[in-house]
Amino acid sequence: MERKTGRSLLSIVVPCYNEEKVLRLFNGALMDQLKKMADRRYEYEIIYVNDGSGDGTQKLILEFAEKDTRVKYIAFSRNFGKEAAMLAGLEHAAGDCAVIMDADLQHPPSLIGRMLDKLEEGYDQVIARRDRTGDSWKSSFFARTYYRLVNKMVDVKMVDGAGDFRLLSRATIDAVLSLQEANRFSKGLFSWVGFNQTYIEYENRQRAFDESRWSFKRLLRYGVDGIVSFNVQPLRMCVYLGGALLLLSMAYLVYLFVSILIHGIDVPGYFTTIALISVLGGVQLISLGIIGEYVGRIYAEVKKRPAYIIARTNLEHDSWRQEPDKK
Ligand code: UDP
Ligand code: MG
Repeated sequence: MERKTGRSLLSIVVPCYNEEKVLRLFNGALMDQLKKMADRRYEYEIIYVNDGSGDGTQKLILEFAEKDTRVKYIAFSRNFGKEAAMLAGLEHAAGDCAVIMDADLQHPPSLIGRMLDKLEEGYDQVIARRDRTGDSWKSSFFARTYYRLVNKMVDVKMVDGAGDFRLLSRATIDAVLSLQEANRFSKGLFSWVGFNQTYIEYENRQRAFDESRWSFKRLLRYGVDGIVSFNVQPLRMCVYLGGALLLLSMAYLVYLFVSILIHGIDVPGYFTTIALISVLGGVQLISLGIIGEYVGRIYAEVKKRPAYIIARTNLEHDSWRQEPDKK
C-alpha cells in the first residue's frame, strides 16, 4: 500500500451478509465520514468481507470498488459466520490500525473520528459501547443476565454493550491474529490480548432494514462459545458436583445401614430409588454434555481447517491465509 509521507493507514473492516438493502446507504455514510476526515494524517482502505451473501451484496461491493480504489473486498465461497469474516478482514488489513464495524448502520461511522482521537492519545483498543436504547426488554434482559453470568464464570472480562465495533492498533491486531484457535470468540479474544483499552459511549440504533442476522439458535450457540472457549470452569463444576453427590450418597448409605441395623429391613423405598436414578441420570447427562462441548471443540481444533475460503477478492494476496512473514 502506497502512503503519502507521514500518513498512517486505517483499514475499515466490514463483514456483510445479505445486506443489499442497506449497503449503499452504509457506503455513502462511510465515504462522507472519510471525506470529513480527509485532513487528518490518515489514508483509508475499506475491506468489505462478503460472507457468502445470497443477494445482490456482491454486485454492490463490486460497484463501490470500481468507483473507489480504496475499496477492497473478500468474498467467501459460502456463509462462514461473522467471526470468520472479521478474521479474514483483519488478516488482510494492511493498516497501521483497523476499525471493525457492521454494515447495517448500527455502528455510526461518525464515531471513527473520535476513535482515532483516542488512539492518538495512546490507547491500543478503542471500544464503542452502546447503551440499550430501543432494545426490547426481552433482549436487553437476556443480554444483561448473560453478561452477569459469563463474567462470573469466565477468566476474561466482557462488557455489556461493547460489541465488535472497535478500533485496534497494529500491535493489537497482530496479537489477536497470533491466537490460532479455530473456535473464535472475538469479544473474548480482544479482551484476552489486553493492551490499553478505553470505551466511548454511543446511543444504540435499531437496524435500518430487516431483522438481525442472528437467530435465537445462533445466539445460543454464540453464548455457549463465550463460556466454553474461555475457561475450564464448567469442567471444574462437574468435578465439584460429582464430589458433593458422592458425599451425599455416602451419608445416605450410612444412614440407611444404621436404620436397617436398628429397625430391620424397611419397606422397599420406591420414591428414593426413582429420585436417585433421575437425579444421577440428570447429573450424568449434563456432565456428558459439557464434556461433549469441549470434545467438539478439540475436534474442530485438531482438524485444522481454515476458518473461511475465499472465492474472489481484489486484494493482491489472495491465498486463503496470509503467511505472517509475507506481510
Ligand atoms: N454478518 C456476517 N455473517 C453472518 C451474520 C452477520 O458477516 O453470518 C454481518 C452482518 O452483515 C452485519 C454484522 O455481521 O454487518 C452484524 O450482524 P447483525 O446486524 O445481524 O447482528 P446484530 O447487530 O444483531 O448483532
Ligand atoms: Mg446489527
